[in-house]
Amino acid sequence: MRLVFATNNAHKLEEVRQILGDRFEVLSLSDINCHDDIPETGDTFQDNALQKARYVKEHYGYDCFADDTGLEVKALNGAPGVHSARYAGDHDSEANMTKLLQELEKKPDRSAQFRTVVALLLNGQEVLFEGIVTGRIATERHYGESGFGYDPLFIPDGFTETFSQMSPENKNQVSHRGRAVRKLADYLKTL
Ligand code: IMP
Repeated sequence: MRLVFATNNAHKLEEVRQILGDRFEVLSLSDINCHDDIPETGDTFQDNALQKARYVKEHYGYDCFADDTGLEVKALNGAPGVHSARYAGDHDSEANMTKLLQELEKKPDRSAQFRTVVALLLNGQEVLFEGIVTGRIATERHYGESGFGYDPLFIPDGFTETFSQMSPENKNQVSHRGRAVRKLADYLKTL
C-alpha cells in the first residue's frame, strides 16, 4: 500500500518508515512535489494533524496521514505543547531547548510527556491515533547518535538515557510517534 506522510522532516520519515515496514510505501511531501508551508494554526494536536492531512488531500488529491507532536511539561502547565516548534525560535531546536532549561530552573518537578496525534485521511474517512510517552526533562543536553528536536533533553520513564542517546529502534519502541504509528499500522492491516 502506498501512502503519503504529510511531512518533509527526514527524521520523522525515517522513524515512520521503520515502523510501517515493507508492507507500506511511505511517500513524503517532496515525493509528491509539495513544497508548501502547510498551515498549522489549530489549538490542539488533533486540529493541526487534521489540518495538514486535509490540506494535502485538498491541494494534491492524495489520501494521506499527518502527525502533530509536542512536549507537555507538567511544571509549565503543559507548555510548550502545540507551540513546541516555535517555543523560542522558529523550528530552532537549540533555542527551544535553552528556553526550556531556563523555564525549569529551580523547578523540582521535571516530569513531562511527548504526545503525537496522527490523522489518517483515507477513502473519505478521517481517523485519529494518539501516542504518549511519559518521562522527565534532563538538567542538561545529552546528545547521542540520533534524534532531533527536544530529544537530547527527554529521558523516557524506565530509562536513564535521553531519546538522543537511544538507538532509533529503541526510541521507536517506546516513543509517542512509535505508539501512534503502530496503532495506525494495526488499523491499516484491518482494511
Ligand atoms: P511538529 O509535529 O513537527 O509540529 O513538531 C513540533 C515540535 O516538537 C518541533 O520542535 C519538533 O522538533 C519537536 N518534536 C517532534 N517530534 C519530536 C520527537 O520525536 N522528539 C523530539 N522533539 C520532537
